[in-house]
Amino acid sequence: MPAAAARDSRALYEPVIGLEVHCQLLTATKIFCACPNRFGDPPNTNVCPVCLGLPGALPVLSRHAVTLALRAALATHCTVQPTSVFARKNYFYPDLPKGYQISQYEQPLATGGHVEIADGASFRRVRLNRIHMEEDAGKLLHEGFAWSDSRSGVDFNRSGVPLIEIVSEPDLRSAEEAHEYLTALKAILLYAGVSDGTMEEGSLRCDANVSVRPRGTEALGTRVEIKNLNSFRNVARAIEHEAGRQGALLQSGREVAQETRLWNADKGETASMRGKEEAHDYRYFPEPDLPPLVVGPEWVEEVRASLPELPAQKRRRFAAEYALPDYDAGVLTAERAVADYFESVARGSGNAKAASNWVMTDVLRKRKDGDETVAVPAAHLAELIRLIDAGTISGRTAKDVFERMWETGEAPGALVAREGLGQVSDEAELRSAIQAVLDGSPEQVATYRKGKASTLGWFVGQVMRRTGGKANPQLVNELLKRTLEEQ
Ligand code: ADP
Ligand code: MG
Ligand code: ZN
Repeated sequence: MPAAAARDSRALYEPVIGLEVHCQLLTATKIFCACPNRFGDPPNTNVCPVCLGLPGALPVLSRHAVTLALRAALATHCTVQPTSVFARKNYFYPDLPKGYQISQYEQPLATGGHVEIADGASFRRVRLNRIHMEEDAGKLLHEGFAWSDSRSGVDFNRSGVPLIEIVSEPDLRSAEEAHEYLTALKAILLYAGVSDGTMEEGSLRCDANVSVRPRGTEALGTRVEIKNLNSFRNVARAIEHEAGRQGALLQSGREVAQETRLWNADKGETASMRGKEEAHDYRYFPEPDLPPLVVGPEWVEEVRASLPELPAQKRRRFAAEYALPDYDAGVLTAERAVADYFESVARGSGNAKAASNWVMTDVLRKRKDGDETVAVPAAHLAELIRLIDAGTISGRTAKDVFERMWETGEAPGALVAREGLGQVSDEAELRSAIQAVLDGSPEQVATYRKGKASTLGWFVGQVMRRTGGKANPQLVNELLKRTLEEQ
């Protein structure tokens, strides 16, 4: 597609996106058996008759899996249904030994709800349609084994791992918004302890439904479902590409076909996988081996009471309590560890504005460059801010001290003392440095006396040089003026 045509179609057509996110629950065992729910073990070591789908084996629902699904539902403001029903979703595939997946269909665990995403300087709600529980399928192994040239294998360790599927309404309007939504949703799931949020290990998986419509119109266009999205970035790339493809089709008078397409990350494009005609008919029917799931109000309230402060709540509290702009509060609360770190620094230093500046710039940059952990304890950063506020070190020196703190793990007070980095605020010492500068620059002194007050800055610079940059600049300024006037 010519680039110019794609650009035009973007101006004419608005993308409409709804996401289906699968999230593995952080349980110790699988959803319907006692096998370990663990990633990375040798193939087919965590299996039993239930998750291998052997005849006669009966599923027993894990209470902890339901509790985690409830945590996700309440953390996203869903309504928990008092009764939900497991159903068989029938299809044939080698990774599905029973020939059906146990899922929820007509009566899901939770409905409604929303996730807040950044919208310019403020936030807006993306509505959820539902959250339902299901079991994961096994995994086909196509590469990495001695026999991979001639055969594929099946690993059933993942078969029966508990999942929730979080289905959004078609409320997203761009690839960036979809990325925002996934980031916000992941943060909620991590805060709530529902998931570990690693998309690489498959604990978060996403399908994107994309349509376009002429800008300014309401009716939804024909939707395409995109699969094989293995990172948030690829979700955004795929949506961007797919919306462009659909817009160009409509613009040239053709139609969008309702179909499932696969994202090819290497080529940066989607390709048809199956059309409407080949769409699966899953023949859903209620699972006869499991009773309806009944969740009473006590259980719901118990789970609700056990939830921590969630990102949106924390963001509002930070904005109010520490007088931070909404945007800053959003950045600081995106990750629980960062939010906790910021709060310790803010409390320990008594200077929330400085704490937020340091965390948002220096600390997050360091984390981005290097590992995920924060290498400077919150107490040390708080102490550094107190040293600046007390005038013991300059803001400039503080940046160097911060670097040294990051490398050595030392407390800033000790570092400053040992390396003699403290600001010189001792009047006698500064006076003698000033005198030395004035004595050595009679011409400049004469210029100053003629009324060229602008040369004061030059003197300050000379004194700073003499003191190796450690003189307290404000004090030098005052003392210089006084000395020049006295003499
Ligand atoms: P299915 O059961 O076939 O997957 P759903 O109605 O449950 O269909 O919708 C699945 C996802 O598709 C939801 O996230 C929904 O928001 C989204 N969706 C539905 N219609 C459209 C549309 N016209 N354009 C974009 N997304 C859509
Ligand atoms: Mg679907
Ligand atoms: Zn098992």
